[in-house]
Amino acid sequence: MRAWSVSAPAPVEDDPLRFVERPVPVPADDELLVHVRACGVCRTDLHVAEGDLPVRRPGVTPGHEVVGVVAGTGAAVTDFAVGDRVGVAWLRRTDGTCAYCLRGAENLCPRSEYTGWNADGGYAEYTTVPAGFAYRLPEGVEDVALAPLLCAGIIGYRALRRTSLPTGGRLGLYGFGGSAHLCAQVALAEGATVHVLTRDAAARRLALDLGAASVRDAYDVPPEPLDGAIMFAPVGDLVPVALRALDRGGILAVAGIHLSDVPALHYETDLFYEKELRSVTSNTRADGREFLGLAARHGVRATTHTYPLSDAAQALKDLKAGRFDGAAVLVNDLS
Ligand SMILES: [Zn+2]
Ligand SMILES: [Zn+2]
Repeated sequence: MRAWSVSAPAPVEDDPLRFVERPVPVPADDELLVHVRACGVCRTDLHVAEGDLPVRRPGVTPGHEVVGVVAGTGAAVTDFAVGDRVGVAWLRRTDGTCAYCLRGAENLCPRSEYTGWNADGGYAEYTTVPAGFAYRLPEGVEDVALAPLLCAGIIGYRALRRTSLPTGGRLGLYGFGGSAHLCAQVALAEGATVHVLTRDAAARRLALDLGAASVRDAYDVPPEPLDGAIMFAPVGDLVPVALRALDRGGILAVAGIHLSDVPALHYETDLFYEKELRSVTSNTRADGREFLGLAARHGVRATTHTYPLSDAAQALKDLKAGRFDGAAVLVNDLS
């Protein structure tokens, strides 16, 4: 098969990805072999290619928003069959035995492994996934539309739940990219009032199209106090701004892996009246299953831009340069 491999991490302009010939992988006893049909391009893939994330598997194949079809099963797999359509996401394995896993917080497992970082992912004709970490996908939605839901969608959904937004609550979204525009669709479908705070003009138009009640600059005050807010922009300077926009008892969740330093907080204006600041770390499989169910029920759709799998390196360059709107998705043009 053909697969993309990160030979040595470097800026994508210097072509760290090589398109190589490899044997089709053999699934372990508890794994599925998946024929890749579509794979979303996530900013984390850029971090893997450029070395912002340390190398965990030399020559790794990136890609963790995979929609494909089961092409083979390991000897111990009983709940999937050849021909089933499945999704492969970022969280690949946990130990299942640590205190975090046992209390339902497997997203915090210190021995967790990730698709397209610890193990080869979906920038290839075939990939593998432990059966316990594969997602069943809703029917009637095409592969390309589903792919971005598997990372951007699930993480945005966990961030939404981390705000503990009350029914009919007022939600502020700081930044409005791939993850936020999916999160907004769930919040709106559940009856929330959504205020979007971003500088980007195209993102503001998309927010209004989707049903946001207001769009303002990231540093502006929203038109009403917020019960919950999510920081999608990786900008620590916005944290006190968002905390001040919260109503009493409001919760701010920071969705990103990276955030620039948070400036000093003023206790009375930023935290008193039981405001809370929370982080979001990866997701559990329960988050993923809940989100995919809600996405199907509410018709959540990603705005997508497709590339053939054989152009994956260009897709990453275009992502870095901001050359497209919405989420890039690779489509297997080889098999
Ligand atoms: Zn664990
Ligand atoms: Zn991702």
